[in-house]
Amino acid sequence: MQIIQNFINGEYVAPVAGNYLDNYNPATGSFSGKIPDSDADDIEAAVHAATAAFPAWSSMPLEQRHDILRAISEGILQNLDALALAESEDSGKTVTTARTVDIPRSALNFKFFATALLHFASESHQAPGSLSYTLRQPLGVVGCISPWNLPLYLFSWKIAPALAAGNCVVGKPSEVTPLTAYLLGEICNAAGLPPGVLNIVHGLGPSTGEAIVRHPKIKAVSFTGSTRAGAEIARIAAPMFKKLSLELGGKNPNLIFADCDYEKMLDTTVRSSFNNQGQICLCGSRIYVEKSIYPRFKKDFLERVQNLKVGNPSDPNNNLGAVVSKMHFEKVLGCIELAKSEGGQILAGGSPIQMPAPFDNGWYIAPTVIEGLSSECRTNQEEIFGPVVTLQAFDSDEEALEMANSTPYGLSATVWTNNLQRAHSFATNLQAGIVWVNTWMLRDLRTPFGGVKNSGVGREGGWEAMRFFTEAKNVTFG
Ligand code: NAD
Repeated sequence: MQIIQNFINGEYVAPVAGNYLDNYNPATGSFSGKIPDSDADDIEAAVHAATAAFPAWSSMPLEQRHDILRAISEGILQNLDALALAESEDSGKTVTTARTVDIPRSALNFKFFATALLHFASESHQAPGSLSYTLRQPLGVVGCISPWNLPLYLFSWKIAPALAAGNCVVGKPSEVTPLTAYLLGEICNAAGLPPGVLNIVHGLGPSTGEAIVRHPKIKAVSFTGSTRAGAEIARIAAPMFKKLSLELGGKNPNLIFADCDYEKMLDTTVRSSFNNQGQICLCGSRIYVEKSIYPRFKKDFLERVQNLKVGNPSDPNNNLGAVVSKMHFEKVLGCIELAKSEGGQILAGGSPIQMPAPFDNGWYIAPTVIEGLSSECRTNQEEIFGPVVTLQAFDSDEEALEMANSTPYGLSATVWTNNLQRAHSFATNLQAGIVWVNTWMLRDLRTPFGGVKNSGVGREGGWEAMRFFTEAKNVTFG
């Protein structure tokens, strides 16, 4: 059994009140260890350490700050195997996914923002008789709260720019997947990160997470997670005038036109539907297909889906592992029951998969494809965040756009077409923060990342993140 601890002021420490939560391995459904159930006293200790570390960290020469963040990046890669295994054991994702996506991207986040801090610059405005320039100063102590689906990947996506901009951080990974954030502490120490610059506190959202949001010395909160929790955080933080970046839920449309590059579309659509068990905020869960190719697509897609292998996340032959928790397993199965009650026909999957021992108590769900539902039903309006997609046919561009924009969410959208005019028109008119044309999940870390409508406010990535984690101060000389 592993007992993990908080990482405060460069040391692993037990939670002040001595309370712990149970952690589970989704692949086996078995108890795997204990994690701190931290409260406001632990956050106080973390804020105290971060406040003390801030003057030296924010005034450190840029090259030295760069070197430390680069060393963290390299430390992550040196521990690739151990981190990938930990990520898989904690989340149920395949080791292959953790090894090829999660952990390399976590290292890249630190590398990318280490470089960004060397190039980050601010504006100056000249006029006859005046010179104004903008200072971009770090905020002080900031809070970073992340979800379970891409644990170290999304945790580092926040922490790296926050540190690069000269802030000190109190971070909280998801209580469902704490392990890689716990291991990050040692890597930061080995990289020479001064004590207190990064503090990692474990625990539940409404207690540990809220204590971060409520703390008066935490100047900004960068949050990725559900729309429900994002609304709660905004409610608490707004009257305190904190800067907020909220990356929330999605219900992303995948629009497939008859003129697309069919094989590329088919391969990618299988991935965009079921990668990481459909637990990526960018997965396309509503698949809209032009009527003329609907029968062909349905046949080919189902054939591919039925060939996907689900099981032991350590087996490189498996495409899908387990979903992240018992609670999420039950939620996703509940959504499938709802779809049936709304008149949906299950074309593939639709049920849990019983695995042989030692995986017989794990949380496995067959990749599920549903047809016959309207755009307005709850199944097509609410986020499921599991291996479940719906298929619908459309007749015209207008109908496709209306269906795509019909939910309260607006994170990402994918369009498959070789018609340039149509691609540009959809890119302009889709209500989404990110539009992919003839691809999916192709990420350039310099681009703005975020959603519209109930998918959040603010943008991450590149200069957007560096701007979020700094305050602009105008200085004018006469
Ligand atoms: P969640 O909202 O339950 O939890 C996310 C994090 O917030 C966790 O660390 C949790 O402990 C904490 N938290 C929960 N309630 C809180 C509160 N009241 N105050 C402070 N912190 C709180 O989300 P989850 O189930 O971990 O993750 C799945 C959700 O995340 C999905 O909705 C998914 O779409 C979303 N997501 C969005 C993006 C994006 O970039 N937009 C990326 C990944 C996941």
